[in-house]
Formats: sequence, structure tokens, C-alpha cells
Amino acid sequence: MAKKLFIETLGCAMNVRDSEHMIAELSKEEHYELTEHSHEADLIIINTCSVREKPVAKLFSEIGIFSKNKKPNTKIGVCGCTASHLGAEIIKRAPSVDFVLGARNVSKINQVLHTKHAVEVSTDYDESLYDFAEYRSNPLKAMVNISIGCDKQCTFCIVPATRGDEISIPSALIVREITKAAAQGAKEVMLLGQNVNNYGRRFSTTDGVCDFTQLLGKVSETEGLERIRFTSPHPLHMDDLFLETFASNPKICKQIHIPLQSGSTRLLKIMKRGYTKEWFLDRCRKVRLLCPEATISTDIIVGFPGESDEDFEETMEVLEEVRFEQMFSFKYSPRPLTPAADYPDQVDPMIAAERLTRLQTRHTQILDEIMDAQLGQEHYVYFDELKPYGRVAGRSDDGKLVFAEGSEELLGQIKKVRITKTSRGALDGIVLES
Ligand code: SF4
Repeated sequence: MAKKLFIETLGCAMNVRDSEHMIAELSKEEHYELTEHSHEADLIIINTCSVREKPVAKLFSEIGIFSKNKKPNTKIGVCGCTASHLGAEIIKRAPSVDFVLGARNVSKINQVLHTKHAVEVSTDYDESLYDFAEYRSNPLKAMVNISIGCDKQCTFCIVPATRGDEISIPSALIVREITKAAAQGAKEVMLLGQNVNNYGRRFSTTDGVCDFTQLLGKVSETEGLERIRFTSPHPLHMDDLFLETFASNPKICKQIHIPLQSGSTRLLKIMKRGYTKEWFLDRCRKVRLLCPEATISTDIIVGFPGESDEDFEETMEVLEEVRFEQMFSFKYSPRPLTPAADYPDQVDPMIAAERLTRLQTRHTQILDEIMDAQLGQEHYVYFDELKPYGRVAGRSDDGKLVFAEGSEELLGQIKKVRITKTSRGALDGIVLES
């Protein structure tokens, strides 16, 4: 009988892909069936995120619950970014944990599984040439890593400490993986990296060297592949050639994430983001000029140390001008191993909370206006998920979630859909083509 694996994935798309890699690697040695119930699992993996404080605090209470309810011989592994930054400390605080595996060491899952209290968290380990086994939670769309780690030193961010220096995966390996995924039915790929458009900065081989714009060209030649998405690009590396390629290549989906973090040039400097408010706005204007149909999403931190009312107003100004379709906004949360955690001018949490509410309230109004205007519009939707009650879901080219009536035969198809109902988070439509 197959063993059962319970895997909880927190955080970003990189973590989701790391979980897929772990599932694939485990299956090289033994067949595991995924379960949603930790009490029946033979192996429990918590793939953690440490970008914000909450998931870290939750980790130890979860370990306690899992250890209490698990079967006697079930192993528990803690993986991902929190594993990288806490390392052996996790086993000290929670001895029921059998192994700790860092975000940069995913390929070693079968080694740590068989070594009691193993801790593998080195951040200089190079996985860029490692050939992972295949597993995709949804074979209709492929997530593919193009780089690992991050060379930036944003003063609020723990990622460089947990994922290590940036290394690009050779383009030939990327193209090979995408070709395989496309042959198995994936019409869409999501290219993943901490700074995708810094691709090509460093390789551990001289084969397949190119930059991100060139990589997009190579990927778009893949037979059977119709859509390319990527996350996350960095505003600093959005040169004209990259934006022109984004706009002109029909396979590149017209949805772009441009993480702002703050609208204040003064704060951006303290954050060490490497760009100004003016550069950010200039890049957004260029996207709108070259590609008016594109949607722009962003990340914003409110209450970064030293943020004044004037700084915050500048963030509001950027929101008013760009009118982001999606906005991931958070109150600044001091993270260990980051310079900003020690800055003396931490913002009063009440003030930060008020600013966040103001920002999110205004964004909600903007989003409602954007979504209401979708009524009667037509989109090409790639249906990739079956929903209850005879419905299917998919994404429009510009990233909107669209539901329609339909069944299996629509899965894996790109169809023209007319929008008949709108809401803040999703759209409803009817399929126009048979
Ligand atoms: S670019 Fe900055 S925010 Fe993004 S992962 Fe690197 S250090 Fe963190």
C-alpha cells in the first residue's frame, strides 16, 4: 500500500514549486499518495515562509498539533525559509521534528528523510544544475524555476538570508523542462525567481547563458506553449527592451507585477530598493503606453521604519496614478537577520494600521471600478480547473479569474468568454466559442 504524505505549503509561488519538487523527489524512492489529513499521513512536511512574522509563530503550535495527532511512526519535516533561518533551533524547541530542510536544499529531501534529526540548511548550496524529478499539481500549467536566491539587499527582507545568492538556471535546462511540460498538456508556464528580470546575472556553468529578455524569446518558441507568465520582476531591471518584448510578444500574458514597496523615494533609498518613485512611475507609464490592455499589480509595505505622513501620501499618490489591479499590502513586520529590524525609528503599530486601512480602502474602491467596467467585455480564458456544480475556472490573458458553465471538455482550452457578472475577486462569463 502506498504511503501517505501530508504537505502544508505556506508563502509564495517559489514555495509551491519547492513542494512539488519535494513530492517528485520523494517518489523516486517510494510511492506517496497525497492526503489532506495529517492524522493518516506517514510523512508530514511543513513548507514554511518567513517573510512575515505570523507564519513563524504559527509553526510551533502546528508542530505541537501534528505531533499529538499523528500515527506513531510518522515523521515530521520542517522545510522552507523558516527552516533555513532557524535551522537546528527548530529541533531544540520541538524535538518531535525529525528533519529540517532549508529552502535552498530541496533536492536533499531523500537524504534527510533517513537521518534522524538531520539539518540541511546551507544557503550556498547550488541547485541550479540539479535535475528534479517531475511532479505538477496541475498538469495544465507549469511552474518552472529560472533562478534561485537573491543578490539584492532590501533592508526589510529575509529572503537573501534564507535562499542565498542568486544563481540562474541554464536556459537549456529551462527550455527542456518547459518542452516536457508542454508535451504533457501545459499550455501555460509561470517562470519563477526572486528577481526574474535579473536572470543571467550569474551561472554556475557557461552553457545556455542569456538574459531574461532573450530567455523569453527562447521559451516562446516552445511548441504547444501558448502563454507565458513570470513572477517577480524587479522595477530596477525593467529596461525598455524588456518592456517592448513584454508588449510585443503575443505569448507573454499582459499582466505584470511591479513591486513598489513605497512611493517615497526617501524611503526607497533606506529600503535599498535601487529605484526612485519617478523611475517606478516612468516604467508604469511605459507599460501603459506600449500595452494599454496590460494589468499591473504590486506589493506595498506600510509603516516601514521612519515612514512619515508625507512618505505615506506619496504611496497614495502612486496608487492613484497607476490604479493597480491587484495590490498585496502589509504592515511592516521586523524580520530577524534584516537591518531594518534594528532601525530606531519604528512606526507606532496603530499609525501603521490606520495607514494600511486607508490604502486598502482606497484600493478596494479602485478595484471595484475596474471590475465593474468588465461587464460585457470579452476575454480569452485558459480554463484549467474544474469547479463544483458544472463550472470551470481559468484566467484571462491579463490575469483575471473567470468562471463559466462547463465541464472537462473545456479544460486545457483557451476560449473567448463574454463577461456577464462581476465581483471584486472574480468574473463570471459565457463561453462564446464551441
Ligand atoms: S529583491 Fe529585495 S524584496 Fe525581493 S527577494 Fe530580493 S531582497 Fe527580498
